[in-house]
Amino acid sequence: MINVAIDGPAGAGKSTIAKAASKELGFIYVDTGALYRAVALNAVRNGVIDDDAEIIKMLEDTKVELAFDETGAQCVILNGEDVSSLIRTQEISMGASNVSKIPEVRAFLLELQRSIARTNNVIMDGRDIGTVVLPDAQVKIFLFASPECRAERRYKELVEKGESVIFEEVLEDVNKRDYQDSHREIAPLKPTEESVMADTSKLTLEESIALIIGIIKEKGGLQ
Ligand code: C5P
Repeated sequence: MINVAIDGPAGAGKSTIAKAASKELGFIYVDTGALYRAVALNAVRNGVIDDDAEIIKMLEDTKVELAFDETGAQCVILNGEDVSSLIRTQEISMGASNVSKIPEVRAFLLELQRSIARTNNVIMDGRDIGTVVLPDAQVKIFLFASPECRAERRYKELVEKGESVIFEEVLEDVNKRDYQDSHREIAPLKPTEESVMADTSKLTLEESIALIIGIIKEKGGLQ
């Protein structure tokens, strides 16, 4: 199996780029952020998002699964309910960053991620894929862009979805999440020694996709 790990900060374009590259290469795309988002959604629904001990307890009654349709698109199933679109709000983004600091939550989601990679050619995106989840991945990419570029992209996405947002607030959220994700004690966001660094700040989406496909083909030994 070929495993590709793509890590990087929020809004670097990981999911869009990884999705397009997976389609082109016939790989399954796994968005691991969605798993943390599903746990966060469950915590919000149970009114425990600010209480780590209660979140840990809640895990006993939490079932998170991933399903893939025939196009390879991912759905996140929380206790039997498809929550794929409910997890894409700013509240859940911040909530996911909060629950992801809890070691028990990370351990809870680890085997699910590894088991998918054992049986499929995957491009998996997240924060700790190259460092923790798939340390033996043949291809590791660290995808990043300047905070302003990333906030701009996220802002446009949210506006397109009809959320009323203020650019400065989105930028603040991006900076806060980056800080939290890269400074937490467990599995912080960071490149590995083997990671190929890919800066998409000055690239169009098409250029970024081509860059990533090129890296995967070269490092993964594909033609
Ligand atoms: O990638 P996305 O923005 O959907 O991830 C939401 C949050 O989940 C991130 O800010 C991060 O805190 C957490 N996450 C993580 N490890 C991953 C993927 C996401 O800690 N592999």
